[in-house]
Amino acid sequence: MAGLGRRVLTFGTRFVCRSCTQRFQYQSSRTFASASSSEPDFYDVVCVGGGPAGLSLLTALRANPTTSHLRVALVEAQDLSKIRDWRLPADRFSNRCSSLTPTSARHLDSIGAWSHIQRSRVQEYQEMQVWDGVSGARIEFDWAQDSAASEGGIIAYMTENLNLTSGLLKRLKELGGVSIFDGAKVEHISFGSEQPDLDLRQWPVVQLSGGRELYARLLVGADGVNSPVRTFAGIESRGWDYDRHGVVATLELEGDGWGGEYSKVAYQRFLPTGPVAMLPLPGNYSTLVWSTTPENAALLKSLPPQEFIAMVNAAFRLSPVDLEFMHKQTSGQEEELAWRLNHTPFDPHLIPQTVVGVQEGTVASFPLKMRHADTYTGERVALIGDAAHAIHPLAGQGLNQGQGDVQSLARTIEYAVSHGQDLGSTLSLESYNAERYAANHVLLGVCDKIHKLYSVGSGPLVPLRSLGLNAVNAMGPLKKFLMSQAAGSGAKLV
Ligand SMILES: Cc1cc2nc3c(=O)[nH]c(=O)nc-3n(C[C@H](O)[C@H](O)[C@H](O)COP(=O)(O)OP(=O)(O)OC[C@H]3O[C@@H](n4cnc5c(N)ncnc54)[C@H](O)[C@@H]3O)c2cc1C
Repeated sequence: MAGLGRRVLTFGTRFVCRSCTQRFQYQSSRTFASASSSEPDFYDVVCVGGGPAGLSLLTALRANPTTSHLRVALVEAQDLSKIRDWRLPADRFSNRCSSLTPTSARHLDSIGAWSHIQRSRVQEYQEMQVWDGVSGARIEFDWAQDSAASEGGIIAYMTENLNLTSGLLKRLKELGGVSIFDGAKVEHISFGSEQPDLDLRQWPVVQLSGGRELYARLLVGADGVNSPVRTFAGIESRGWDYDRHGVVATLELEGDGWGGEYSKVAYQRFLPTGPVAMLPLPGNYSTLVWSTTPENAALLKSLPPQEFIAMVNAAFRLSPVDLEFMHKQTSGQEEELAWRLNHTPFDPHLIPQTVVGVQEGTVASFPLKMRHADTYTGERVALIGDAAHAIHPLAGQGLNQGQGDVQSLARTIEYAVSHGQDLGSTLSLESYNAERYAANHVLLGVCDKIHKLYSVGSGPLVPLRSLGLNAVNAMGPLKKFLMSQAAGSGAKLV
């Protein structure tokens, strides 16, 4: 039997490993524990990182009867009680949102977390309008007309990341049995030592601020793109910075919101500096993700609300040349847009509604990078989510890839437990690496190529890529394939 929970006999607080006659002194399991004792704790799984990936993994393990007996711990630098109790008024939205594919939503439902997410704050969409800002070539994805591509005609669910993590924490509280060390940073990770009656030389030992030590049969790195767990395991992460920042904001739209002809559409326009996307939130709100140069991002963040709004409306309407000019102005964007719109023809049905407001304090930016770890596993180590891979947000896939990792690793651990294997051994973990590495690698490559293809503002590539986009738009099976990939259902191109 692989799990400590199955291998131990209990004598008060003392557990004896039956198969290897090793004696482990445990503390009883706590929830939201404070990290103060210097007594070592032994766990089957220690997960560093309580973001979407780490919380989903622990929920999946606790929700599954085969793995629910495992001793699991979570280490997170932030105060998780604040995230669990997170609340905003119905007309205010966080600026960090993600599009969850139906596949990810189904997984969250299967582990009992979906019902803990505030559904009134989630907006699904059924149509995507994507176009080339230079040539105007366009591709339309309409799931409502092709509901076979994904169930219910839904492409994705726009969700605030905090709504998701708050829902996961509520579900974890309901399940119980996780030792949570929050507000606790990982100070150091090393290997254990050989002790008189116990050989822990291959067990990672996570040392927390305050001195507590956690011994891990399996150490999971869900600790983001700069993963300390990955560094400890000596796993290289390769890639490049895009020299682009993703500017995010919560926008208010004119009219009554995403109703009638504007029903639940996501818009993305490829500009030579990077794609700008407006994705629906409930009511007449929308979330912005605008990938642009660090200089443009700095200007956008410095503008007063009315000038910022003018820039966003310009990004979906004006030519890239006009937009570039407006990026060089330190003020006066609103006036400039009003004048330029008189000379710019566009079809109002193919672009998003006019933005009329931006919520205070929501304009922020994040540097964009591509990274891929050489492997997702090592002896007693597994990486999931951004710790394993970081992708350009143009296809909204980063968090969804992490959910795919979680499903695969939870299955791998379940298999090891039910087949009496050591769940931390490289052999047990191999199927996780094999399943996820290749799948993520393909998506990372595709998004990277799309970013590069559309970063070209002129020359022979422009008509070629437009021809490609128009051709795909006219080609039923290929379009269907792309739609199913975006929805996470992974249909084959036949
Ligand atoms: C602008 C933008 C838009 C995006 N849009 C989308 C989208 O539409 N759809 C989508 O699927 N993805 C999207 N993504 C990607 C998505 O946000 C990430 O892939 C996802 O949040 C990663 O989750 P994670 O749990 O792997 O890592 P993180 O969210 O980075 O969580 C890591 C956690 O580890 C903790 N941690 C780190 N170091 C330590 C330490 N030493 N000790 C203790 N704790 C530690 C951190 O506090 C953090 O809570 C977007 C990204 C950006 C930048």
